[in-house]
Amino acid sequence: MLSKLPVFMARFLPQRPALPGTPPAALEEQLGGQGHPAFRVGQILDWVYRKRVRRFEDMTNLPRGLREWLEANYTLEPAREALVKRSSDVTEKLLLEMEDRALVETVLIRYPQRGVGAEESRKTICVSSQVGCAYGCRFCASGLAGWKRDLTAGEIVGQFLHVCYIEDARALTDNQGSPGRRASSDDPVPFDNVVFMGMGEPLANYEAVVAAIRCLNAPWGLGFGARRITLSTSGLVPQIRRLADEGLQIRLAVSLHGATNPVRDAIMPINRKYPLEELIPAIEDFSGKNGRLVTLEYILIEDVNDFLEQAHALAGIAARLRAHVNLIPYNSVEGLTWKRPNIKRQQTFARVLREARVSHTIRKEKGHDIDAACGQLRLRTEKDRAVAAG
Ligand code: SAH
Ligand code: SF4
Repeated sequence: MLSKLPVFMARFLPQRPALPGTPPAALEEQLGGQGHPAFRVGQILDWVYRKRVRRFEDMTNLPRGLREWLEANYTLEPAREALVKRSSDVTEKLLLEMEDRALVETVLIRYPQRGVGAEESRKTICVSSQVGCAYGCRFCASGLAGWKRDLTAGEIVGQFLHVCYIEDARALTDNQGSPGRRASSDDPVPFDNVVFMGMGEPLANYEAVVAAIRCLNAPWGLGFGARRITLSTSGLVPQIRRLADEGLQIRLAVSLHGATNPVRDAIMPINRKYPLEELIPAIEDFSGKNGRLVTLEYILIEDVNDFLEQAHALAGIAARLRAHVNLIPYNSVEGLTWKRPNIKRQQTFARVLREARVSHTIRKEKGHDIDAACGQLRLRTEKDRAVAAG
């Protein structure tokens, strides 16, 4: 509804906090203040995370007064759909609009499994943590438009739920059930992996991201295994060290993209603040405490970081960290002149890692034709909005 209001009106609407992501203790306190018994909290959480209804009025075992109070004080859908783009392969890119009209991207990627139908394919969702990004990496569309604001925990959880709504509706259509309602409270979450690789730097929005991960993981929330959650960071050293002490069993991916300081400095301004000699020990600390192997992400950009000298340095870092390396052929970004190296150059680079016995993959692309790289769909839509507004 909000998206249909003129821009100037939407700006003045009071923004309600999101119910998704609110910890049960906080909810219990607020409901207690309204004279409602504590067991209502469990009922509400069941509607939000298990049955996954999209309107308070559908929470039929709650008294009408409570449903009305919830409606007046919370939003159930902090992230509403503004646009969906399907690519010719198996990726769906959602552009979600927050209550203040901020736009963020959430991507659903299906990895088909040999010999099974589309519904059994493995599904990964890629979520955003901020509107834009302040870190200005030279290859990245999110960095180009700058940072607008952090997302709240509810807005991050809203992205997980939105993908659930889409997949739930699809499953119901397939089973010819009634639309908008799940068949059973015991149905699992309809995706297999979550990656924080959308717009923004998750560790720069630390509290909200950790709260959203706890809600995703908690039995009272979506009950999703921490081991299937990956957080990707450009390398904020103090926050990596703090995350190591959170006791979360999540995986860490680090966007390296340069294996020596001069090359990394030229691509990622963050490296001047936290150079490799600080970053590498912090990653070591994380994997030592958390017991999980770390992934190093490395975008291959022609004549910028795809030299063999970089491949050897990368092999050395990965061997020290016992890390897996994910080589990502660069996705061209509107307004940037860099290119991806041809297949032969990619393979020559990868051969150095193979010869050093470093575990690695070259990422097979999903959704290139729908601007799958971080921030690109939003950037284009913001530009279209600006043109439309004159
Ligand atoms: N801020 C975090 C998470 C978001 S960006 C981080 O930097 O890790 C996550 C990833 O998006 C980057 O590491 C990179 O792997 C990918 N990415 C961004 N721009 C890209 C581009 N132009 N081509 C290919 N991958 C890109
Ligand atoms: Fe921000 Fe990550 Fe993009 Fe760098 S790569 S600008 S940290 S979103």
